[in-house]
Amino acid sequence: MQKPIINQEEEKREILRRYRGLLRVCHRSKSRSERAKIRKAFELAVEAHKDMRRKSGEPYIYHPLAVAKICAEELGLGTTAIVCALLHDTVEDTDITLDDIETLFGKKERTIIDGLTKISGVSDYSNTSDQAENFRKMLLTLSDDVRVILIKLADRLHNMRTLDHMLREKQLKIASETLFLYAPLAHRLGLYNIKTELEDLSLKFKNPEDYDDIVNRLQKTQAVRTRFINAFTLPIRRELDKQHLKYEIKSRTKSVYSIWNKIHKKGVPFEEIYDVFAIRIILNSGPESEKADCWRVYSIVTDFYQPSPERLRDWISIPKSSGYESLHTTVMSPTGKWVEVQIRSERMDEMAEKGYAAHWKYKEGPETPESKMDRWLEQVREVLESPSENAIEFIDNFKLSLFSEEIYVFTPEGDLKTLPVGSTTLDFAFHIHSQIGYHCIGAKVNYKLVPLSHKLRSGDQVEILTSKKQRPKEDWLSIVVTPSARQKIKIALKEEKKQIAEEGKEMLKRRFHNLKINWHSSNIDELVRYYETYSALELYYRIAKGSIDLKKMKGFQMEGGKIFFEKNLPVQNLSEQKIVTTAPAKGETLLIGDEKQKVDYSLAPCCNPIPGDEVFGFITVNEGIKIHRTSCPNAQELMSKYAYRVIKARWSNKELVQFEVGLKFSGIDDVGLVQKITNIISTDMNVNMKAISFEANNGIFQGRVIVLVHDTNHLSALIDQLKAVEGVLTVDRIESEFA
Ligand code: MN
Repeated sequence: MQKPIINQEEEKREILRRYRGLLRVCHRSKSRSERAKIRKAFELAVEAHKDMRRKSGEPYIYHPLAVAKICAEELGLGTTAIVCALLHDTVEDTDITLDDIETLFGKKERTIIDGLTKISGVSDYSNTSDQAENFRKMLLTLSDDVRVILIKLADRLHNMRTLDHMLREKQLKIASETLFLYAPLAHRLGLYNIKTELEDLSLKFKNPEDYDDIVNRLQKTQAVRTRFINAFTLPIRRELDKQHLKYEIKSRTKSVYSIWNKIHKKGVPFEEIYDVFAIRIILNSGPESEKADCWRVYSIVTDFYQPSPERLRDWISIPKSSGYESLHTTVMSPTGKWVEVQIRSERMDEMAEKGYAAHWKYKEGPETPESKMDRWLEQVREVLESPSENAIEFIDNFKLSLFSEEIYVFTPEGDLKTLPVGSTTLDFAFHIHSQIGYHCIGAKVNYKLVPLSHKLRSGDQVEILTSKKQRPKEDWLSIVVTPSARQKIKIALKEEKKQIAEEGKEMLKRRFHNLKINWHSSNIDELVRYYETYSALELYYRIAKGSIDLKKMKGFQMEGGKIFFEKNLPVQNLSEQKIVTTAPAKGETLLIGDEKQKVDYSLAPCCNPIPGDEVFGFITVNEGIKIHRTSCPNAQELMSKYAYRVIKARWSNKELVQFEVGLKFSGIDDVGLVQKITNIISTDMNVNMKAISFEANNGIFQGRVIVLVHDTNHLSALIDQLKAVEGVLTVDRIESEFA
């Protein structure tokens, strides 16, 4: 690399020029003592880094100066953070020690710089789990001071802005890490501008051709957009002027990264995205009238343009957990294009751009700036630690996650959710809300349709699809891995069983009435004994389900309304099934799917066995018997190390065996079609789906689904139902996996 010719005098002047540039944006450090502190930190950093140069050949001090400037200007941070930003690389790279920092500045500064040094100490890693580990360590430093995270973000932002001089390999590593860790973190903290810039810069280095291509296309289409925006906002501006509202209208296209994401993850062509943008109306209104003014503007906008009622987002009444306040509506333009209009006050706008960092400016009271700062830092911490409505559950998960492997996934709104490794879309749905879990029929992960059992990965964006008709199912217990989801499913299943049993009870009452048998507990007990159901609830349940046929109830004697069964009569209905009533002894076989099986077993989530699979049971320490496929990746280890805990198992009877069949379908693309199809499969036909994929291109969609059916009759009934859906053209069975 060519180094610039070094002119020491010139460089000194440039360093001072940059230092004065920093002071100009330190709005929160006005007092003489604060300025003196910054000066001291600057001089110490200059001295400590004096012999160091960046990869570009520039003096190293340019970097801490730039990081401090980002902290002051873009994050609105105060003196302590500026001092620490100036010194952030000294302890790691120079002779300065933490003790020096404490002596020269103070305890707070020591803690923050210590945190920053620790983070960079773990920054050398090569795989995703190490990255997750790093993220975890970073979150842990929050217990010291959130400023550590904010300065680290500023540090990363400056490194990304100056990544050109790095080796290609290093560029790729830093860019990936930025996308994986820092951009989501910035988003989580409500720092939307920084998040967007980090994402765009990451793309620029990871996929330079794609990045340049999108930037060029955006430039070429700029004039079209400007014309459209001017025409669109003209009537609004006129009316706002008439009503003497002070405002500013800004418009911004989607970021390069989000356009790229749509093109590559969703397959949407550039032509359909480039003119998607949001118009922002920023009102110059004081705190007493800002909310009312926002709604006034809303009513003006919607007087001219028809709003989409389901796309009104009111974050004015209830701000987002990151502190974001804004009123969003999506309206139809005269050219038939949806346009998002964001309405907010100047204060809200600054909050949206700088996150909580903007808070201090608007808070009144006798507090010093630093103590206000501590208060909002406290708030940031609270936000990070409890982003969900169920704070206790989240904190539990959070603490738990410090010790177990975990993944970080996002809601469509960009909220970060932490789940254990192996979590499925169904776990995610329950994590959001029990009701969402109960009605979950699938999800869109990174805009692609996936089934309930889809395993999530860090960085996935997950949108849950629900249906009112959906109910929790027994086999869901083998899909979820989080204890809370498992618990919720069990409660729901119990509740449903109770409801079904209630119907069975009514049926039995009617039957008793017809046969003139008294409705008496001793008679019910007699039936429980006869059918070996162990409980009245189970008896009623099986009557309702039809596995006990009351019409076939015979062979009993009656005396004054009381019934007695003859002892040795064969038990009907159940005779065709083989029953194991106790845990199978060694050498015996466990029957899966047998209602009367009293053994506590569950299907192992690692291999998701289905009826028909060759399986074995494994006796676990706490969770009863787990059923694994013999082809399970864990099978070999379990069988070789713990042979004495392995028991034979097979599926109980033919009726319950299901076969996996692939179906392909095509049709005319229509909103909600996928939901109709999945509804028919899972709700109307009560068929289990194993996988579903769906692609739409120029209005034609093609889909594939893998379902579990009992036999060919079952399959053709399903195909007939699917063919009847409006818009569906063909439905065919896939003869082989590669058809
Ligand atoms: Mn640095």
